[in-house]
Formats: sequence, structure tokens, C-alpha cells
Amino acid sequence: MLGRQKVHTRLFYEFDLETHIPPDHLLRGIDRFLDLTGLHEEMRGFYSHTGRPSIDPELMIRMLVIGYVMGLRSERRVCQEVHLNLAYRWFCRLGLEDKVPDHSSFSKLRHGKFRDSDIFRHVFERVVAQCIAHGLVGGQGFAVDASLISADVQKQSSSRQSEWDASTIDPAEAPRAVREYLDTLDEEAFGTATPVKPKFTAHADPASQWTAARKGPAFFAYSDNYLIDTDHGIIMDVEASRSVRQAEVGSTLTMLDRTAERFDIRPDWLVADTAYGSEESLVEIVLKRQILPFIPVIDKGERTDGTFSRSDFTWDEENDRYICPEGNELRHARRNYSDPARFSNEMKPRRYRAAKTDCQACPLKAQCCPNSETRSLQRGKYEIVRDFARTCVASAFNETASRRRKKVEMLFAHLKRILGLSRLRLRGPLGVRDEFTLAATAQNLRKLAKLRPANAPSMQIG
Ligand code: SF4
Repeated sequence: MLGRQKVHTRLFYEFDLETHIPPDHLLRGIDRFLDLTGLHEEMRGFYSHTGRPSIDPELMIRMLVIGYVMGLRSERRVCQEVHLNLAYRWFCRLGLEDKVPDHSSFSKLRHGKFRDSDIFRHVFERVVAQCIAHGLVGGQGFAVDASLISADVQKQSSSRQSEWDASTIDPAEAPRAVREYLDTLDEEAFGTATPVKPKFTAHADPASQWTAARKGPAFFAYSDNYLIDTDHGIIMDVEASRSVRQAEVGSTLTMLDRTAERFDIRPDWLVADTAYGSEESLVEIVLKRQILPFIPVIDKGERTDGTFSRSDFTWDEENDRYICPEGNELRHARRNYSDPARFSNEMKPRRYRAAKTDCQACPLKAQCCPNSETRSLQRGKYEIVRDFARTCVASAFNETASRRRKKVEMLFAHLKRILGLSRLRLRGPLGVRDEFTLAATAQNLRKLAKLRPANAPSMQIG
């Protein structure tokens, strides 16, 4: 018999939101790890003690977390979804009849109290602490990488390098993102990362970088830098920077130091791609922080014209010389100088030369130094550090480290494809930092919910 739904309006309902959220719902899993106790105390100093009560900051943070976890890129959309979705209401501690804040409230809070209190970073670090407490962080091997995220600007609204002069901008008249750009001109992650000026500067967000690093058409972007623990791919730290190599390397050092300071975790080894293999970067990682580098060395001594590269010569540490493919030695000094400093083991740059008589009689000369009388090699001040990195990369463990490095690339792919963060919504270094920090928090929460489900056997947390 054909059924027909009976529509009848009831004045009163008995409704328990709790019973309507499935036990395996993603937000249930995440809720167990989002610990916001003490948040009100942390933020109390940023609110006036008189006047009307504000919107609860915990509610705003829960709504923002929903947005980033579920890939809802607009705050207007988050408000609509929280209004309609029972699970979202439950996660935000809103009853069926409670009013959802207006989307305009987010903008005011983000640029004001949230930023002054640095609350997004505090929430991110609490989630990392949860990951550590639940045994998801080994702490031995870290990976670092950066991904380009498009800035919210257009090429049409930009100036050429010759037409852009930051000193003519009046901060009082400038929009927020431009004021933030002026404030970061002396910061290593932005203004002072490199003396090279970008070809174009975007008017609405001058701190974004005009880059063609993806080997496609150039665009304006920021770099999202992740430092991850390679056991489970937990993001230990996140940093926004200009999309240039020097800024990304500087961010790596900032993240390593901050992780050591906040969580007392210093990795034994670090894996990264060639972009991190400059001499300065390796000195910071190996000499100053005592971390094994599984990082390919940037080698300007490698030749592409078919003649012998530096790697064809063997370094003989004991006798302070190179051995060439013909078996002859290259030395930095041959005479018996009375000055012992010429022969000291002190770290300094040196040029090593083959003997003229050896090269003139050598059958390999055309492959080695066709345009000069002898072959010479420059050995940098910290070549020993670069050699150490080369040894690490040539070791058997490098394959394992490289395989684990893929986890950071997968996190960026997830960030763009699933969480929808392929283009920024906020402008200016601070807005970008907020977006990256919230997105990293969301990724760690999703991982916690997946790897430590509620029905898993209980584990000792200490
Ligand atoms: S040309 Fe000189 S440095 Fe090069 S392989 Fe021959 S002897 Fe060695």
C-alpha cells in the first residue's frame, strides 16, 4: 500500500543533540583532543571588564576549527553550516535554538584580540602537546619542506620593481596588509630574507612574492613551511614566509629552535630537499644544532659541459689534498713556507691546484681542464660540513629518510586538495600566519582522531 507521510506540527520536542551525533563522526573524534580549558583566563586580559558580554571566544575558535577541518573556506559559509548542521552545533556547544554569531564578528576578533593574544599559536601548541602525550611523536627524525600557496591578489594590480618605492607609503593611510608589510621589512622571514627585489609587487599585499618556482606561469604567493615528525607525520611547527629559499631556510631554523624550546624535542636527523642544502644552512643544522643532515648539498662545482666535476675528485682529509681521476694530487700549498698558519687545519676557504707538469702530460687533460694549464678546485671554509652531508646522503639510511620525507609532501597535497587551501583568503603576513597555523592545527586534529579513535584500546598517558 502506498504510504504517505503525515505532516503535523508539534509545539514541544524532546530532543537530545548528543544522541544524534554518530559515535564515529569526525568531529566527535576531534572534540576529544581539542582542549580549550583555561582559554577564557588566557583571554580575559584582552577584554574590557565593563560593557556587554562579548561572543564567547571558545565558540569562535570552535567554529574556525570546523571551517579548517571540514574545508569550508569562507566564514560566511561556516556560519551557515553551523546554523544548519547538528554535528557542528554539538561541536560548538550550541543548542538547537542558540544563535550563531554573524560572520563579521570573525574579522573583528581576528585582527584584534585573537592576534594580540596569539591564541591560534597557543591552540596549535596544545594540539601538538596532545600528539606527544598520545605517543604520535618519536622525536628522532624530522622532515622539513615548504609549499607555495597563492596570495589573494591579481597581477593586474601590481607594480614593476622600478616603480615600487616602500618609503613613499604613509602607514596611516595604508590598508592593513600594507602596514603589516612595512612592519616585516626588517624580519628575516620577509623583508631581509634576500637583497634581491621581486620583479613585481602586489599593491594589496606587498609582502607576497612574485614567483615562478613551480616552473609554470609566475604568480604571487607565500610559503607555508612545515616541520614534521616523520613517525606519523605530525606537524611539529608551522611558519609563514616569503617564497624565496633564504626565507624558507630561516623558517626551518626558527621552527627547530621553537620546537626545542616549547617541547624539549631536538631531532637526531633532518631530511629535506636540495633547497635546504646551502653551506650556510648545513652549518646551522650540523655544527650549531648537532643534527644529522639527509639533505642533498647544493654543489656549484658540478659541471654540465662533460668535463670532470668536483665529485670526480677524491678528498684526502689526512693529507689535506684532493686526488684527481688520473691519481695525481691537488694541493693548496707546495712550498715549504716558514709561516705555519699556511698549513694549519683552521677552517678557511682554500684553492687546491694540480702540478703543472702533471696536467701537461695527462691523457685526460681535454676532459679535465681544456682551457687552462692546470686544474684547480676551491674548497670552502665549511667544506668539511658539506662533505659530512654528502656522506649522510650516500649512506644506506638515506633511502628510509627520503621515503619518510614524502609525508610532508602528502600533508601539503592534503592541505590543498582536501582542506581547499590552495589560495589564501587573508592578506598580509599576519593574516597568512593565522591561516597556516589554523590549517596545521586542523591537520593534526584530524590525524589524532584517525590514529587514536575513541574505541581504541586505552593507553597510558604520562
Ligand atoms: S688534467 Fe691534471 S688534474 Fe686533471 S686529471 Fe689530469 S693530472 Fe689530474
